[in-house]
Amino acid sequence: MKEIILLKNGELALKGLNRSRFESQLIKNIRHRLHDLGKIKYTASQSTINVEPVDPDVDLDEAYERIKTIFGIAGISRCAAVEKDMDVIKEAACEYLRDELNAASTFKVNARRSDKKFPLASPEICAEVGGVILAKFRHLRVDVHNPELIVNVEIRDNYAYIHGNQIKGAGGMPVGSSGRAAVLISGGIDSPVASWMMAKRGLSLCGIHFASPPYTSERAEMKVRALLGKVSKYSGNIPLFVVPFTHIQEEIRDKCPEDLFTLIMRRFMMRCSEIIAAEQGCGALITGESVGQVASQTMQAIACTEAAVKALPVFRPLIGMDKDEVIEIARKIDTFETSILPYEDCCTVFTPRHPKTRPVLTEIEAAEEPLDIDALVAEAVAGKRMILI
Ligand code: ATP
Ligand code: MG
Repeated sequence: MKEIILLKNGELALKGLNRSRFESQLIKNIRHRLHDLGKIKYTASQSTINVEPVDPDVDLDEAYERIKTIFGIAGISRCAAVEKDMDVIKEAACEYLRDELNAASTFKVNARRSDKKFPLASPEICAEVGGVILAKFRHLRVDVHNPELIVNVEIRDNYAYIHGNQIKGAGGMPVGSSGRAAVLISGGIDSPVASWMMAKRGLSLCGIHFASPPYTSERAEMKVRALLGKVSKYSGNIPLFVVPFTHIQEEIRDKCPEDLFTLIMRRFMMRCSEIIAAEQGCGALITGESVGQVASQTMQAIACTEAAVKALPVFRPLIGMDKDEVIEIARKIDTFETSILPYEDCCTVFTPRHPKTRPVLTEIEAAEEPLDIDALVAEAVAGKRMILI
């Protein structure tokens, strides 16, 4: 039996030009994610996208699994595409949905006829298909208000489509439809979740990771690469920039007060990131900060970190979330187990014993006086390496 996948677009409130831009970005993303599965035809109409295999050997199970991770899709239905003949339709509904029909105790049939030349109207299609199902699956009852299973029959131009309940898609907006942003990625639990959340809002990502060899090991970098690999299942490819941070950290250690160390370091991360983000055409920075989580994330500390950014907005999608809530997402996107591997991050190198939780910007600016900020930032940015994830 020929099978296709029907997708319902997300964000149904989108209208006009935005909608077609959204839809073409979504089809482009799906095409990209399924390109190695063989020849597939994509058609869009009325906020539905049809994914129709052209080659007989397209692995539809694999396509179905991958589609579940693509943002911009509200609902997914796998369906049988059959000849527009009532006998064929009735037979196919019982066959194709056999398992679901056996498992349910109540059902109803929903019919839609966009091909008005089809001889039966929707209520007649419902009655005929429902009658055959009731005769064959004697345990079932019809419940039009709250059925466990909806048997959908859609009469379209070329085929009749038959499918059961639709499953939820990944939601959000198609990656790329909102532009591009640079995520500061650390190898912890938070920043991969922040990356995923912003990809869900339609941003394509570029990653920036600060490494301080020999204080941080190659394994810490491998961990970041593995984490972004998991995020890229949702976001598509991510260019990762690894920025050498050792010289900056040693300068801060040698010339600045210990209690301000973390904050001054974070301000350097922001400065370097803003330059790389601009080079890469990114319109925002993303971090995994959350108010009050650690000393460098009090409101006053965040204000001081933010003050080092000149022009770009900083998106902090976790700002009001509890750690539990972040961990729940980390488990869902399968980054948690990797995040808790123990390799040290540059933030844990030279950690102050008593970090200031209520820093004042003028005090920090004074503490940065002995540093040649521009030269240090330029040196770090010039030393970056790019890895395509
Ligand atoms: P995470 O779980 O993401 O490591 P965290 O709670 O450990 O977060 P911090 O270490 O204070 O928090 O870092 C806050 C944010 O700063 C991170 O979420 C990340 O966006 C950024 N960041 C921290 N360390 C690095 C790094 N080495 N490279 C790039 N970004 C970093
Ligand atoms: Mg961290």
